[in-house]
Amino acid sequence: MSPVAVGARLKCEKCETEVIVVKGTDGDVSCCGQPLAAREG
Ligand SMILES: [Zn+2]
Repeated sequence: MSPVAVGARLKCEKCETEVIVVKGTDGDVSCCGQPLAAREG
């Protein structure tokens, strides 16, 4: 488990949904059944 930082931008590689984290969590954020990958920039 990796912490998700506030302000991190995550993107789903399947449906290309982009998520901006507004509340940090120690859990995984997932979409389409897979964890979202952090994106730089
Ligand atoms: Zn998705």
